[in-house]
Amino acid sequence: TPTERPLRKPRWIRAQSHTQPGVQRIKRVLREQRLHTVCEEASCPNLGECFAHGTATFMIMGDICTRRCPFCDVAHGRPNPLDPDEPRHLAETIEALGLRYVVITSVDRDDLRDGGAGHFVACIESIRERTPQARIEILVPDFRGRMDIALEIMRAAPPDVFNHNLETVPRLYRKARPGADYQWSLDLLEMFRERHPGIPTKSGLMLGIGETREELLEVLRDLRAHGCEMLTLGQYLQPSRHHLPVERYLDPEEFDELGDRAREMGFRQVASGPMVRSSYHADQQAHEIVAD
Ligand code: SF4
Ligand code: SF4
Repeated sequence: TPTERPLRKPRWIRAQSHTQPGVQRIKRVLREQRLHTVCEEASCPNLGECFAHGTATFMIMGDICTRRCPFCDVAHGRPNPLDPDEPRHLAETIEALGLRYVVITSVDRDDLRDGGAGHFVACIESIRERTPQARIEILVPDFRGRMDIALEIMRAAPPDVFNHNLETVPRLYRKARPGADYQWSLDLLEMFRERHPGIPTKSGLMLGIGETREELLEVLRDLRAHGCEMLTLGQYLQPSRHHLPVERYLDPEEFDELGDRAREMGFRQVASGPMVRSSYHADQQAHEIVAD
């Protein structure tokens, strides 16, 4: 039975801290350039740490999503038209902040014919022009119904790492990822890999929303069977009382053990821990397998 009152957070779940030096500076630059970050929009608990290290996950194509996943804190509704200046603003910001590894993601744009793939390409090209040394990871939506078109468009400027999160086990998709499909997401990872065999693919899940261990291990096997080489596993945290409740807090040892299992299955890079997010220490995760 689902818990009625929220579970108490265990001691290993750190509170947010936005007070580190560097955080205010980055926030100011982001405001000036009218850019959005997942770090802020999704109330990521690592914000203080990541910003202080000069890492951020940019959210392109606006901050309003066409879907409504009950675990997610991003606003939903009718999105704004694409900002043609965004690729330039993004590239200028990355240069100004001296970032060497950037993660770019987006809300779902089911309203766009290419799902936003063209805008991803414009952003990558603009960044490569200005800061060719920066490594780029993209964390993409599932391009529902437009997967082929999106992948063909993205051939023009592939990223250094291609990330798409499965988020949870297939049984919980209807509850946690309405509008998404487990097999499509696996297919997207595999189809990218077929087109770009040299570029690692990455995926992640949030744990503690009701999945069983066996279901999780099955997902990891599926990811490996679809060529995925990088993995993130983190604890789901409820952004507010109105979001999907946490069913269970896994302890740090359990995350360590799951990480070990994933490595045994052949993942080349695994980040597994309560505070791990898809883009947490993404630079370090990629360091080992992305050539300089
Ligand atoms: Fe941003 Fe990712 Fe760090 Fe969270 S983990 S603050 S989303 S870069
Ligand atoms: Fe949030 Fe992504 Fe779901 Fe949109 S598709 S609601 S951004 S998790």
